[in-house]
Amino acid sequence: IEVTGAPIFSEDRKWKGVVLVFHDISDLKQLEQMRKDFVANVSHELKTPITSIRGFSETLLDGAMKDEKMLEQFLGIILKESGRLQSLIQDLLELSKLEREDFLLNIEKVGVQRLLKDLLPIVRQHAEQKEVELHLFVEGDTFIQGDSSRLKQVFMNLLTNAINYTGGEGEVLLEFREEEDSVVISVSDNGVGIPQEEISRIFERFYRVDKARSRNSGGTGLGLAIVKHIVEAHHGTIRVESVVGQGTTFYVELPKEFTEN
Ligand code: ADP
Repeated sequence: IEVTGAPIFSEDRKWKGVVLVFHDISDLKQLEQMRKDFVANVSHELKTPITSIRGFSETLLDGAMKDEKMLEQFLGIILKESGRLQSLIQDLLELSKLEREDFLLNIEKVGVQRLLKDLLPIVRQHAEQKEVELHLFVEGDTFIQGDSSRLKQVFMNLLTNAINYTGGEGEVLLEFREEEDSVVISVSDNGVGIPQEEISRIFERFYRVDKARSRNSGGTGLGLAIVKHIVEAHHGTIRVESVVGQGTTFYVELPKEFTEN
């Protein structure tokens, strides 16, 4: 709380009292703190791969290059770490685009079934690598008004997560249900699950339940923040149900008609 004060005098210049104004600046402070945390997080996330890229290049130049096995192994690490930097920067640019005041969706008529079906070939290879089975249950088509490339991004992110946090004979299900004024699309997996007390935090930038697992699978920690932005820009909602050790379902509800603000 910020307090400012001023004395008050009567007409004959006698001191009568003081006016105190209490300003609740907790929201502002909180915002400022969030901004600081974000900058610190970004710096940290950028630093880790760069440190590793520098370290391995130096070791190679110091002589390790002569050993063919080491050469191959270290170059592999350098490639992977620079890939991580690239995804991080891509996601950061994406988030800042979505957060701009003048950001506009490209609204068109979108067939939900077509949209979801188009995604499957793209994620199938990833699923096969992780030994995860993918199933799509969609009957009939429903059209909604939305930005199809942004919506694809939403379901790509959710599917990629479902595959990454499942693995090893897991199953991922993509379904959609039509309601009167909306459609509900769900992505379920039978993977590691999310502890109840952390569910509300996973949409925060860089929040991860298991840092090592997220990094290993190439996650940036920004995927769900991007997803939430896009869904809310469509005036939709996203919710999560999860049981640790059993699996997770993300439900995205999107209105059929798009209304401007
Ligand atoms: P990341 O790049 O780390 O996957 P996200 O923003 O996409 O970042 O997700 C944030 C965190 O939420 C993940 O690190 C993970 O801990 C958790 N999470 C997301 N999806 C799932 C899922 N399907 N199953 C279990 N945990 C998940």
